[in-house]
Amino acid sequence: MLYLISTPIGNLGDFSFRAVETIRNLDYLLCEDTRRTRILLNHYELKVPLRSFNAHSEGGKLGGVVEDILAGKVVGLVSDAGTPGISDPGSRLVAACRKEDVEVVAIPGACAAITALSASGLDTARFQFIGFLPRKKGKITRLFEEALAFPGTSIFYESPFRIVASLKILVELEPERRCVVARELTKKFEEFASGTAAELLEHFSAKTPKGEFVLMVSPST
Ligand code: SAM
Repeated sequence: MLYLISTPIGNLGDFSFRAVETIRNLDYLLCEDTRRTRILLNHYELKVPLRSFNAHSEGGKLGGVVEDILAGKVVGLVSDAGTPGISDPGSRLVAACRKEDVEVVAIPGACAAITALSASGLDTARFQFIGFLPRKKGKITRLFEEALAFPGTSIFYESPFRIVASLKILVELEPERRCVVARELTKKFEEFASGTAAELLEHFSAKTPKGEFVLMVSPST
């Protein structure tokens, strides 16, 4: 059995009872960064063998994890934050488990995209999740053009180092489009900034952006 266990995106309190109970009964827990996961496990006084699940184990045989599960082991997977598989490693392992008819159980919890959308005030009835923007301007422009034509909210993940550059590209395309940027969700400096793309560019250009960002582009009205 493979358990996909969602973890907090900042506030350690956002971890479910079911996640804690599930971890207590695992043979081992796969994680991205053992030091980061240990902080969470220590907070909940959980002791479980940790195995790192990184780019290396993502290749080839997925580190023998599927074989372990087929042999009867109960394995959990967490990412550094949020829901495993959502802009995080895990989807290849899940696909490999499904292919072998291995039971996969998701323990739901925080996801930055859904947390941001739910409190954004934008259309939640219809939305598309794009995840991280690519690096090249041409590709970013194409994705933004698609988002501007999409009849619902478009959700992007962005880093503090690129949020201003990405907003600049959006402003070149449609400065008046309504957007919301959610920053540092569930943390001390949580912020929801809403306005036109041009207003948000001005806001985030005023001082060096810090933290983690979700950019949401509303549908045209
Ligand atoms: N699996 C995670 C989830 O379920 O949301 C996403 C992991 S992805 C590697 C990390 C990106 O998610 C960040 O660069 C940021 O765009 C977004 N993110 C994660 N935590 C966030 C937070 N607390 N506030 C705002 N955005 C966050």
